[in-house]
Amino acid sequence: PPPAALKQVPTLCPYCGVGCSVTAHVDEQHNKVVWIDGRDSRVSDRRLCVKGRYGFDYATHPQRLTQPLIRREGSYPKGPLSSALRVREGRRPGGLVDYAEVMPHFREASWDEALDLVAKRLLEIRERHGSRALAGFGSAKGSNEEAYLFQKLVRVGFGSNNVDHCTRLCHASSVAALMETIGSGAVSTTFRDIENSDVAMLVGTNATSNHPVAATFFKQAAKRGCKLLVIDPHRPQLADFAHRYVRIRPGSDVAFFNGVLHEIIRRGLYDRHFVAERTEGFERLKATVEHYPPRVAAQLCGLDEQEIVDVAVTWGSARAAICFWGMGVSQHVHGTDNARCLISLVLLTGQVGRPGTGLHPLRGQNNVQGASDAGLIPMVFPDYQSVKDPAVRGRFEAAWGTTLDPQPGLTVVEIMRAALKHEIRGMYVQGENPFVSDPNTEKVRKALAALEFLVVQDIFLTETAEFADVVLPASSFFEKTGTYTNTDRRVQIGRPVLKMPGAARLDWDIMCEIARRMGVPGFEFTRIEDVFAEFAGLTESYRGLSYETLGLEGKLWPCADPEHEDGQVVLFEREFPGGRGKFVPAEFAPPHELPSPEFPFVLTTGRLLEHWHTGTMTRRASALETIESEPYADMRPSDMEALGLCDGDEIAVTSRRGSITLKVRGSEAPGLGSIFIPFCWREAAANVLTSDALDPFGKIPEFKFSAVRVEKL
Ligand code: SF4
Repeated sequence: PPPAALKQVPTLCPYCGVGCSVTAHVDEQHNKVVWIDGRDSRVSDRRLCVKGRYGFDYATHPQRLTQPLIRREGSYPKGPLSSALRVREGRRPGGLVDYAEVMPHFREASWDEALDLVAKRLLEIRERHGSRALAGFGSAKGSNEEAYLFQKLVRVGFGSNNVDHCTRLCHASSVAALMETIGSGAVSTTFRDIENSDVAMLVGTNATSNHPVAATFFKQAAKRGCKLLVIDPHRPQLADFAHRYVRIRPGSDVAFFNGVLHEIIRRGLYDRHFVAERTEGFERLKATVEHYPPRVAAQLCGLDEQEIVDVAVTWGSARAAICFWGMGVSQHVHGTDNARCLISLVLLTGQVGRPGTGLHPLRGQNNVQGASDAGLIPMVFPDYQSVKDPAVRGRFEAAWGTTLDPQPGLTVVEIMRAALKHEIRGMYVQGENPFVSDPNTEKVRKALAALEFLVVQDIFLTETAEFADVVLPASSFFEKTGTYTNTDRRVQIGRPVLKMPGAARLDWDIMCEIARRMGVPGFEFTRIEDVFAEFAGLTESYRGLSYETLGLEGKLWPCADPEHEDGQVVLFEREFPGGRGKFVPAEFAPPHELPSPEFPFVLTTGRLLEHWHTGTMTRRASALETIESEPYADMRPSDMEALGLCDGDEIAVTSRRGSITLKVRGSEAPGLGSIFIPFCWREAAANVLTSDALDPFGKIPEFKFSAVRVEKL
């Protein structure tokens, strides 16, 4: 149709935490998005990356689920039916689940039959094995309202706090460190506040691939004179714009930042007034970092000591300095220690609470901030209120009309471990794909197969759904109304663009139906706005926000005054929620699993610009899959030469947990002795190789360091 015949819908991009504003141009007659362009907004200034601009046609892909599915009698043992593990048998499956192979194991069912079965089986397990035998994974792809309802259903209906989501694999360690040190897990300012900075540190973040539009603002800041300090073992493209790029050894972050802290203190470059007035624990920090002079730290990090000194002097001399970090910091067994060091650096130099300064862990999924705010976390209710605090629990018990479990629930990897031991027997997975996203795939396979009952709610038959007893066809981002909170704390409304296919239903409606059939009160909603109002009414952060006041641009939380134009950009101007900022010093310790003669390379996993997480959406977006359609690993050309490898050769990559095969290509991005594999490829699933060892505080796995062997095939 001519452009004039298309409907324009203002909404958001469904992918990363930047949360770019878009206009979808829709052919209503054929229920199709024809194109998408960037919308003017405080977030993204009309900019979009390739995913936001071209990654929309997954929503109308022919593989969309349109009818509930129930596993056929006798179709056991459960999954994987077409999974990545086939590689071991010498068969590499394609980029998508083979529906022809998997569907015969299921039969179509009515909604009534499927929902009754879900409610009956969950109740049976609760009756026979207790509340803590059930668990749920919600989704950071869903809205705040869906996250709120999901955790409420688990806590009130299942009866435990066994609810988590992919924040556990993302910034759980950052949040643990932030909560401990300043009493708030959110960013202290927006990413565009870099426009007011003269120094910006970017640690363990490949923003060009993972937060591409944010990266464009970082590059512009560099061009107008902001000094970028880029610290990363894996050279990101932003290093091209850096004042200084420092390639530290993988896993040596604590040593590096202790060296920087040491030098700042030695040179007297810290903010004595800020330290005295707003922090505690300085002497402990000083005593710890005393043992890390740049000479010693440089040895641990594989650097020249001058590199550490330069970073210390540049940061310590800044007028306004801001610190961004990504999963290169958080996804380690020492992830919380890594984040503690960054927070110490910011507190020591008083670089927080003013424009152009602050702490900004760049969030991954478009709604990982909101899903966490809404309580999809096992140890806290909405707004990070501890389940162990009797006063907090009392408030939620009064609001929800029930008695709540005082014990924190299990986290993502802990739930899988508990399923292996038959302590978790039933699970509800909404919009997540743990079979591909979680570490140590073989263990996840056994855990999912060991469940007595698994219900998966998704828009496609995912690899995880291959293990399900019931599959519920859900709504895509483009089919529903909901609020989403980006990495800046900006709450925006996503608006419906398309009609749902077949008998698919809205996610929040499905959750309410399951609750009703389980006899759980408090799910009698008819409008999504009312779900938001209940959630906002139970939190301090979202107080004052409503559908009426969010408008087209959304607002930052906190924004208690509904009349306020945009909410608060810079937090902690005068105090931290936890009172004084705490220095929590950390000692360097090596990664969980070191390279050995048998496994001499270090594997780092991550994302690609074109594909998002496990690829369930982007691998069904035709433009994106056309650009990047085949699994590959990146290695340094000199490492390849030593192994006799050329670009495009097939290699086997093997760890202590498994093996995958894929192509190799030369890149200067990985460090010497390292190999990088994106985790989006189901047919060469990187998590077959990764370890499920956990950070003791944030319970996040070590995706950024596994010892592997590389062989030419
Ligand atoms: Fe979407 Fe993120 Fe790209 Fe923006 S930067 S268009 S939110 S994927």
